[in-house]
Amino acid sequence: MRVLLVEDNRRLAELMATGLARSGWTADVVESLEEAEAACRVAAFDAILLDRGLPDGDGLDMLRSFRGEKGPAILVVSARGGLEERCEGLNRGADDYLVKPVALEELVARLNAAVRRLHPAGRALMRVGGLTYDPVSRAILLGQAPFDPPPRERSLLEYLLQAAPRPVSSEALEDRLNSLERDIGRNAVEVYIHRLRRRLDAAGASVVIETVRGLGYRLRANEAIVTGE
Ligand code: CA
Repeated sequence: MRVLLVEDNRRLAELMATGLARSGWTADVVESLEEAEAACRVAAFDAILLDRGLPDGDGLDMLRSFRGEKGPAILVVSARGGLEERCEGLNRGADDYLVKPVALEELVARLNAAVRRLHPAGRALMRVGGLTYDPVSRAILLGQAPFDPPPRERSLLEYLLQAAPRPVSSEALEDRLNSLERDIGRNAVEVYIHRLRRRLDAAGASVVIETVRGLGYRLRANEAIVTGE
């Protein structure tokens, strides 16, 4: 899952982004409303964490552009924590309002809860071959055992699991891997798909990541194993 972190305090933003990454979120960090709006034009986010005191205005001013559509979950994370300020945030369309300082654990829990409320249909388990994915807890199981690849491989696998049986384009996967600040390189998708294939193989998973020429990659059950006796 991908979150846009709109926070002009760099140190805080780094801490939050690191913590979010550990919880499986890919965080893109921007420092102003203008950058945030530009980021939203080029990428799709599952959630936005929005500071209020930004160099070019109040984060709440960004809420207008999102309401009315089934956009990302928006959580305000602000030091402005008075009753009126909190109510103003919620009344203007924020899905949640957290007052700084906020514990990372609670931030992640609230973020997951907000996304869950917004996409209740996402509760259904997804299964491909022996892999099961729970989009709410974000657990991946292989058979009954947790399958827990490193963050970038996990991110790609989640995407493939959610899309299956449809293929996912290399560009979409690359977009998923890239943070807006840090381009991780053009062949990164190939590299991580290769590692993921090896990891799935080594774990004896009855799935394959197919290369679909011109389309990208597709996760499917490995029938040779499923039907073989
Ligand atoms: Ca600020």
